[in-house]
Amino acid sequence: MIFDVDGTLCDVREIRHHVDPSHPKFSGTRNFHRFHAQSEWAPVNRWVARLLSDLADSGFRIVIVTAREARWAPLTERWLRERGVEFDAIFYRPNNDGRKDVVVKTGFLKTLRRTDSIVLAVDDSADVIAMWRQNSIPVLVVGLDGEAIKVDAESVGSNAKLVKVLTKHNLIG
Ligand SMILES: [Mg+2]
Repeated sequence: MIFDVDGTLCDVREIRHHVDPSHPKFSGTRNFHRFHAQSEWAPVNRWVARLLSDLADSGFRIVIVTAREARWAPLTERWLRERGVEFDAIFYRPNNDGRKDVVVKTGFLKTLRRTDSIVLAVDDSADVIAMWRQNSIPVLVVGLDGEAIKVDAESVGSNAKLVKVLTKHNLIG
């Protein structure tokens, strides 16, 4: 069970303009330092956190994968802890690793697949979502306003425990 942080667990709508050139408030330069530093006060996306917690209670291993650099680990883990988000493992981008998010996360997937069978990814980024799907992982998509875009029942297959939790949260259709 894979969860992304920015735009998924973490509601970044108030700080997205620091890194998103298509945002009307974008300054002209992407400022990841400011974006990550200010994420400390960003709200949690509540429905994602509730889903995560229910999946953990149902016995799924929760792995958080983030393209944040490892230097943001203390801030990120404090943020998660303060919002009651519990997880089994977390992956960060190495410091000063300038590869695209999708490349970094493809590497995480290779590592994860040695130990885990991944039944679902929850993510908001189009190219990362495409990568999970290329690797046959069903994706629950988080929209630009933090809303849930229901996962296609066919893609989830016959994992009864997973279907039960997704149905309870009205996230499968
Ligand atoms: Mg994201």
